[in-house]
Amino acid sequence: MCSDSLRTKEPNIKLMTTKTNSTTVENHDSMFDSVLARLDVAAKIYGLSDDVTSILRNPQKQVKVSIPVMMDDGKLQVFEGFRTIHSTVLGPSKGGIRYAMDVCDDEVKALSAWMTFKCAVANLPYGGAKGGIKCDPRKMSVGELERLTKAYTVAMADVFGPQTDIPAPDMGTSGREMAWLVDAYNKVHRGNFPGVTTGKPVGLGGSLGRDAATGRGVMVATLSALDKMKLQKNEVTCAVQGFGNVGSHAARFLFEQGLKICAIGDHTATLWNEKGIDIKAALDYAKANGNVLKGFTGGVEIKPAELLTANVDVLVPAALQNVITEEIANNIKAKLIVEGANGPTTAEADHILNEKGIIVVPDILANGGGVTVSYFEWVQNNQGYYWSEDEVNAKHDASMKAAFESVWNNGQQYKTTMRIGAYITALKKVELGIKARGNY
Ligand code: NAD
Repeated sequence: MCSDSLRTKEPNIKLMTTKTNSTTVENHDSMFDSVLARLDVAAKIYGLSDDVTSILRNPQKQVKVSIPVMMDDGKLQVFEGFRTIHSTVLGPSKGGIRYAMDVCDDEVKALSAWMTFKCAVANLPYGGAKGGIKCDPRKMSVGELERLTKAYTVAMADVFGPQTDIPAPDMGTSGREMAWLVDAYNKVHRGNFPGVTTGKPVGLGGSLGRDAATGRGVMVATLSALDKMKLQKNEVTCAVQGFGNVGSHAARFLFEQGLKICAIGDHTATLWNEKGIDIKAALDYAKANGNVLKGFTGGVEIKPAELLTANVDVLVPAALQNVITEEIANNIKAKLIVEGANGPTTAEADHILNEKGIIVVPDILANGGGVTVSYFEWVQNNQGYYWSEDEVNAKHDASMKAAFESVWNNGQQYKTTMRIGAYITALKKVELGIKARGNY
């Protein structure tokens, strides 16, 4: 991925300050370099010391394992598994496990660093980590996935731990994989350790409200931003890319809040309806049809890229990274982007969006609802006492609103974008931890 500059100027929102900080970053091909580019910009604007910056530029630990798995056809296949712990300064490291063909060192490293910043923005007592397996879960049987997940857990048995490193679901994984993970971990360590992972099924130590939490957080972040922009929620239109865990729940919550969702899409179909799509009907359709939108008739089919540049007020990318490129950014019509996915916007596109006055609620804030309720799940596991869904949701909403305000205020104080404001919010907390702990 490349980026030549990330500069800030006055967005077209009256509430933003009149002069904003400006800094240039160099071209970068890797996702981790793109994280570092933004970190460096934020560090410079905030005035972070070189010592602390250099600690954060380097992940604390990187583990790579080979995982031999017997496939259904009787042949052995060896998979590559990864886990990167970026930081444990503020607590045990926390981060999801992704199953996808493009999982690699660089991606896992980048996502682990984002987790450090995301947990700090959400004010959680966690550091950041990420894991993944290079595989195509859609082409594997349930049995193959179970053996792969359990073998990966055994290989990572000394890395994972309820007080050291706590996984969660991410793209291509769900509560099902987390249940397998707990089972394998418990067998290795001969005990019952529900807090070794979050995102577990309810009834197996999972928290009510966890499944929908990331989408719910996207909704809270969207409403908070609309409020700052003085836009009425029932007068705005919206497009949501991705109809998986994050996208489908985000679309549902926004729909329930009265936003008109004019476009939705997944890897099988992208749909447009000027009058608004009935999200409840889309959810029912997907549920009955293998969790995909292909064949849903609630809108006309458009090209995938047209969703991103659709004539809507709010855009929620909630599928893949790096989808908002420079070219797409130039054509985006939305006034507000709320990043449900991790890293959907390239650094170069960031610059263009900023120039166009488009407000971007960054991933490390917007999709922090998931890890927030993961934290609540872990607290409940540690207590052995479980909360009602209303209690979880109320705590979640309060936490997301507080995180939004601190990011917004840091953006205003440092005369910069919400993205850099979010990094600064995180850097302030991590810096405090690093300084308080001291060095060898
Ligand atoms: P998921 O696997 O449940 O869903 C992914 C969705 O993206 C699916 O609907 C899939 O069809 C769609 N998709 C895949 N390729 C596509 C393409 N080319 N065009 C359009 N849609 C495409 O994954 P998820 O958990 O919803 O994660 C989505 C993003 O949100 C990822 O970036 C993930 O890291 C991030 N995220 C997830 C959580 C969480 O709690 N699940 C938390 C924070 C961030």
